Amino acid sequence: MSELIDGKELAKKIRKDLKKEVAILKESGVNPKLAVIMVGNDPGSTVYVRNKSKACEKTGIEFEEFLFEENTSEEELLQVIEKLNNDSTINGILLQSPVPKHIDINKAFRAILPEKDVDGFNPVNVGNLTIGEDAFISCTPYGVIKMFEEYNIELEGKNAVILGRSNIVGKPMIQCMLNKNATVTVCHSRTQNIGEITQKADVIISAIGKPKFLKEDMVKAGSVVIDVGINRLEDGSIVGDVDFEAVSKKTSYITPVPGGVGPMTIAMLLNNVVKATKIQMK
Ligand code: NAP
Repeated sequence: MSELIDGKELAKKIRKDLKKEVAILKESGVNPKLAVIMVGNDPGSTVYVRNKSKACEKTGIEFEEFLFEENTSEEELLQVIEKLNNDSTINGILLQSPVPKHIDINKAFRAILPEKDVDGFNPVNVGNLTIGEDAFISCTPYGVIKMFEEYNIELEGKNAVILGRSNIVGKPMIQCMLNKNATVTVCHSRTQNIGEITQKADVIISAIGKPKFLKEDMVKAGSVVIDVGINRLEDGSIVGDVDFEAVSKKTSYITPVPGGVGPMTIAMLLNNVVKATKIQMK
């Protein structure tokens, strides 16, 4: 029988603790503040930005949106980032992806000061995570690691399979799992016979964006399954990458969608803003 990893509840707990920390910072005259930049009007991004704004508000973190037209040039975007880098009232800077195709997103991430890079996408933070130094860790993989910690799921020596190798989820997830001494295998769109690989896994983390991709016959009994995927079906419902009904009959732990990794991503963003504020106070 599978135990549900309740990301919503865990995120609530983390946010409650952060709210107290923010209140203490405010008492000493420090107001943590996040700046979110969005270029264009991707409907998904609009929802994500709104959710981040609400979460900041509830935690007492100040929030400012910088919205730009689709045709904003890369140069203009870099100037905005530089302005925010130099603004001492801004502690965290987040560039919402995707950005229009004419903008090199990696160039933009590189422009964000590493100590304000609360999404952990600046190569300095990516590199620090890789060499095991303190870093801002990409919020989704960080949230997944927090789930393992909270539920006392031991990763050392375990066979972990990560589905997906994007820069924002899959790749930092690899490093986070290595740092926990798991043995990591990564699958992507060119991987052959994924089911044979996942069947041997003690832990599977799926971040590919394919509804109900991971089926019951692809998982080992007693394994832990973390579903990062967020897929909207034609009827408007949201499902993950995992065929939850069937797979949850075999796993020891599993995350639901919604209510699993999603809320943890936002909680870890708030965590990173508070961390950035404290670093900048020094
Ligand atoms: P992405 O940039 O599109 O990357 C998808 C990855 O999956 C790629 O590495 C791709 O392989 C791989 N892939 C695609 N189809 C595959 C298949 N049939 N078999 C094996 N691998 C396949 O997506 P992302 O930004 O990482 O996001 C992945 C999913 O997580 C999406 O559903 C997204 O909405 C969700 N997400 C959720 C959160 C959250 O907070 N819960 C946060 C971020 C993203 P190639 O590299 O070979 O193309």
